[in-house]
Amino acid sequence: MKTCTFCCILPPVSGTSQTLMQMYQAALARFGHRDWWPTSAEKNATAGRGGDGALEICVGAILTQNTNWTNVERAIANLKADGCMSISALHAKPQADLAAMIKPAGYFNVKAKRLKNFITHVHETFGDDIKAFLDRPVPALRAELLTINGVGRETTDSMILYAAGRLTFVVDAYTYRILLRHGLIDGDYDYEMIKELLESNLPDDIDLYNDFHAQFVAVGKHYCRPKAKCTECPLEHLPHDSLAGIEKW
Ligand code: SF4
Repeated sequence: MKTCTFCCILPPVSGTSQTLMQMYQAALARFGHRDWWPTSAEKNATAGRGGDGALEICVGAILTQNTNWTNVERAIANLKADGCMSISALHAKPQADLAAMIKPAGYFNVKAKRLKNFITHVHETFGDDIKAFLDRPVPALRAELLTINGVGRETTDSMILYAAGRLTFVVDAYTYRILLRHGLIDGDYDYEMIKELLESNLPDDIDLYNDFHAQFVAVGKHYCRPKAKCTECPLEHLPHDSLAGIEKW
């Protein structure tokens, strides 16, 4: 049998891989590249791999839980205005003062404690050097972040992908809902299972991971709400069941 020496050495492309890329391309065509992490362009340029924006991204990843980004921006602006966007300044600041500054982000006492836990951990292990803290292999960094009280899986992966600039997929409730309604997962999938599905079916492309998560958020926010708006959604042409799934996140 005649074989092609080129295509036969390439890994097979699964139906799941094809569907995921179709979803990504359709969302990209609608929303354009999202240029995440959602912070200033100047910070984005230096954010990856522990650049100047890395700490701001880590702080934002903690503050963004259960609130919208506009509120996080107001909290970050307060921290910056007080000269607090450094490990040493955040470490020196009493928790109550932090809570007052991040009030716009909501749940401010809880978030101030989580922020303090993270900052204390970095300070005690790497001093003020957020770049050194982040500049480690993903498994070690991920395992360590997950030991910090109040830093969950989504926050951890956001820090690794957007602040450290390393390959890990960020999963959230939008990701779960969209994949469930498109039949790529069932209701029993947990965070780690969804992450594994995505990472094993997508190329190791940091920009793709970066932007795909942002596209999931855009689709979820605008269309794939608890009551789906499929007729206007960019993924409408792909097989789906808008009534699928019980919200568990
Ligand atoms: S709104 Fe409908 S078409 Fe869009 S992602 Fe959700 S289920 Fe799919």
